Amino acid sequence: MKIHEYQARQLLSDAGIPVPPGQMVETIDAAVAETEKIFASGEGLVVIKAQVHAGGRGKAGFVKLVRSIEEAREAATFMLGNRMVSVQTGPEGIEVKRLLIAAGVDIEKEYYLAVTLDRRNGVNTLIASAEGGVEIETVAHDNPDAIYKVPIHPLSGLEAFQARALAKRLGFQGRQIQQAATIMQRLASLYSSLDASIVEINPLIVTPPTDQAPDGRVIAIDAKFGFDDNALYRHPELKAMHDPAEENPAEIRAEEFGLSYVALDGTIGCLVNGAGLAMSTMDIVKLHGGEPANFLDVGGSATKESVTEAFRIILGDGRVNGVLVNIFGGIMRCDTIASAIVEAAKEVGFDVPLVVRLEGTEVDAARQILEDAKADIPSMQTAGNLAEAAAAVCDAVA
Ligand code: GDP
Ligand code: MN
Repeated sequence: MKIHEYQARQLLSDAGIPVPPGQMVETIDAAVAETEKIFASGEGLVVIKAQVHAGGRGKAGFVKLVRSIEEAREAATFMLGNRMVSVQTGPEGIEVKRLLIAAGVDIEKEYYLAVTLDRRNGVNTLIASAEGGVEIETVAHDNPDAIYKVPIHPLSGLEAFQARALAKRLGFQGRQIQQAATIMQRLASLYSSLDASIVEINPLIVTPPTDQAPDGRVIAIDAKFGFDDNALYRHPELKAMHDPAEENPAEIRAEEFGLSYVALDGTIGCLVNGAGLAMSTMDIVKLHGGEPANFLDVGGSATKESVTEAFRIILGDGRVNGVLVNIFGGIMRCDTIASAIVEAAKEVGFDVPLVVRLEGTEVDAARQILEDAKADIPSMQTAGNLAEAAAAVCDAVA
């Protein structure tokens, strides 16, 4: 599960990591009112930021610095009235429903800081770079040496000496070193206490020197958090932050029916039982030159209702022009599934080619059921094995 930046900023702030104050709003008028409040508090700069579960907002024009009420109204009107297209969204973009209105800050330098699991080394890892900001992906690609990784001990956490050494390596100076090190340690503890899969601050910044802070201040101005869904039961406060508007509606509907569904970009809808079989089905579709439209695992206890819903979800995707059903009957009987397919196909109505491959328990009875139903479902063909099925569906959509 992901959360919005404004929610992540609150978690950072609660953990003692400095973040400029801000407020989430959902209307242009509220955006203007919040901007007025910040100006009234003596700040001269306000930042208006689209709150969506995708990054790359800065470059897409959905992070704007404003110095007047008029500019604020213009920025809020633009963001709430246009879909955001960034490198992290599809070309169709995403709708913006919420904005963060926050005090703007002057930036001396931008850093990158994150904690996530390093799967290769099997350890949670602090990742940092002095080349933070909107180009971090380019840095990771072109100049990987500019990205430092520090393993975090599973019991003792990120040690103070590790944090200070890294802060120095990153080029923090004077009093910035202790500030940055403290932020690193707090971020590492936050990561484990929240069962996060990633906590990212980009950019972590240093502000220009002032009389009160001659070395500047180290603060977080953007944050992205992701959580391990399997641990959410331990964190009702995080679960409450979930924003369903940011998720694919088909994926939410699938979840209600106990289906594991992930929408993809291809044209061949896949209905499969078992995650491993679903993966190999996608592989073999690709091997035969097709592109899967989704990953869909109906699970081991699929019913007529869940199979019907699965077909609805697959066919609801306008890009789908062929469907491959691949079921292995282990505990589940193939004849049960075959009847469910036939019922569901009649109910949902198929106007695209449907290829069915069944194997396992009671497969002969199942084949008979499909054979008998062919007259009612003219777009259906059956296949004896997976390769044949994949070739048939790829042919049908070609
Ligand atoms: P992202 O593009 O979605 O990662 O959004 P960010 O919040 O990271 O903003 C993108 C960039 O806008 C940052 O890297 C900064 O350079 C700039 N920016 C964001 N907030 C401020 C601010 O308060 N003051 C200044 N001067 N620049 C900001
Ligand atoms: Mn950012």
